Amino acid sequence: MKRQHVVVLPSLGLGHLIPLLEFSKRLVLHHDLQISFLIITTTTDNSSSSAANGQLLQPSNLPPDLHLVQLPPVDVDKVTNSEMQILTRVCTITEEGLRSLKSVLMDIGIPKALIVDLFCTQAFEVCRELSIPAYSLITTSVSFFAFSLYFVELDRTVEGDLADLPEPIQVPGCGPVRIEDLLDQARIRNSDEYKWFLFHTSRWRLADGLFLNSWEDFEPVTLQAIRENPFFKSVTPSIYPIGPVIKQEEPDESAAEYMSWLDKQPPDSVVFVALGSGGTLSGEQIIELAWGLELSRQRFIWVVRKPTEASSSGTFFNVGSDTNSPEEYLPAGFLEKTQGVGVVVPSWAPQVPVLHHPSTGGFITHCGWNSTLETIVHGVPMIAWPLYAEQKMNATVLAEDIGVAIKPKVKTGQTVVGREQIARVVRMVIEGDEGNTIRRRVRELKETATKALDAGGSSHESVCRVVEEWKALS
Ligand code: UDP
Repeated sequence: MKRQHVVVLPSLGLGHLIPLLEFSKRLVLHHDLQISFLIITTTTDNSSSSAANGQLLQPSNLPPDLHLVQLPPVDVDKVTNSEMQILTRVCTITEEGLRSLKSVLMDIGIPKALIVDLFCTQAFEVCRELSIPAYSLITTSVSFFAFSLYFVELDRTVEGDLADLPEPIQVPGCGPVRIEDLLDQARIRNSDEYKWFLFHTSRWRLADGLFLNSWEDFEPVTLQAIRENPFFKSVTPSIYPIGPVIKQEEPDESAAEYMSWLDKQPPDSVVFVALGSGGTLSGEQIIELAWGLELSRQRFIWVVRKPTEASSSGTFFNVGSDTNSPEEYLPAGFLEKTQGVGVVVPSWAPQVPVLHHPSTGGFITHCGWNSTLETIVHGVPMIAWPLYAEQKMNATVLAEDIGVAIKPKVKTGQTVVGREQIARVVRMVIEGDEGNTIRRRVRELKETATKALDAGGSSHESVCRVVEEWKALS
């Protein structure tokens, strides 16, 4: 019998592409569906780490019933300008890319359902016109999802900017959100970033259902609040926790040298440092991080990017698209002093294989949601180094509510994390009691993640329920 057809639509950025692609693979491999995976392309196509993107989307890496469909390219120079900040840029290109959605859907055949990224909600109107059930995969934590639903209410009820509120924000039934942790996009009303964030978050309630990349045992309190609190009940469509959805990845040849170096290190002894698909640091911070790692006397693998003073998401659109010679900006003597103890990798490393390796014992992470889930699934304690988007909120939840991360302290009035502080947290995670406590907690959660995904587990059953509904549609 012919498999039922579902369409999946990611927005731009690896952090969005990865979970939608992996979820699609799961739907094909375990739920007997046929997926058309739409791709927004641009005339310049260096959108978010194109090398990594290209590898993920290699047809030979995809199951046969997962078909890539490229949407007509967006002329980036026409619709964007250099003043645009990251979310505005992503949303503007996405909106332009979606102009062809209706005709593409009619071309490839009306599917049983459309699953879109959280920043593709313009697709909901097309779904209504064509009578297609519309779903979104929320690629963030449940805590951030809850905050975002409540943000629409805050926009309506708070006078002035959220950035000026004197007290933390009490999201109904959930933990408080500190003002200093707020994502930039929610802080100041009078900005395009704020408008785009409000636009999409206010439209999630229009979906027929929302898939959450989390699971029952990972964020139980927040899930309960969303299901039971009167505010959330009034604004939330059906929710389906289906995570953790993370990428499957084998190390490529370029990683052979440091993967075999990892093989020779003791278990849980190496700290991995990587700041997501776009994270960058200032020159001053790179110097402190270098000497902090050296001072810790612990082993490390550090994915380094060129320093930028402008923005901590500086390379979001072009990781690896230009030359990166770390010896030009790392402090003099650092590479010599750490030879044999640490490995420096320019721009990009296959993160999942490194986290999976038994020698990896800690991860300095920017707390992007994919990185967070990959870390839990591989049982590695985290040092939280949030940079942009909702990462500060994630870092607080991971350190203070879930107990799987340590946050370095930054001196009042300073933005740079000093070398002694870095050395302290690295030592704590690799050889301290606190590291062991966190490691036990992460490994408990890893077990719950495995159970959730197994046949009969909560996440697996959630997907089955929705797929059955789709299949029952005439
Ligand atoms: N990643 C990687 N190698 C790197 C940096 C990042 O493989 O050197 C991958 C990482 O495994 C994750 C994704 O890039 O799957 C980053 O997604 P996340 O949601 O953590 O952060 P974002 O990039 O969206 O800020």
